[in-house]
Amino acid sequence: MGTPARTLEQALAVARDNGVDFSDEDFVFSVSPRPLGANLHAAYLDYDAPRRDSVVEVGRLLTEDGRIGVVLCPTVLERDDAIIAVVAHEVFEARALLDEFRKSGGRMPAWKVRSLVDSVTGTLHCAAWDHADELVRKRHG
Ligand SMILES: [Zn+2]
Repeated sequence: MGTPARTLEQALAVARDNGVDFSDEDFVFSVSPRPLGANLHAAYLDYDAPRRDSVVEVGRLLTEDGRIGVVLCPTVLERDDAIIAVVAHEVFEARALLDEFRKSGGRMPAWKVRSLVDSVTGTLHCAAWDHADELVRKRHG
């Protein structure tokens, strides 16, 4: 690779310089001390839903101070394209999911959350990749 990994601060600046729009009032990023696992680049929602009809509260999405807490996989910081794509994806998806929660009074059944953010078929998830890909494409003109 040749280039050292970015620090978190540098990574967020790279994302912003490339069109990812988010404020520190709404989002707080951190880097996981360990890789998150195969094909998992970031996480912001920790929901354990044993059953399809389990209710997921919006609080699962938020830190104690009411921001969306996004944890990045450290490997993402090794490539600027990955930084832009992943930060753009998470910001787009988490913000849209938060809107959905608000429209539903702050809670949704697990099946509904999954239909939005499932890592293969989620509607918001797929829209978030389209958005992220677009920003990376723009960068390469
Ligand atoms: Zn996603």
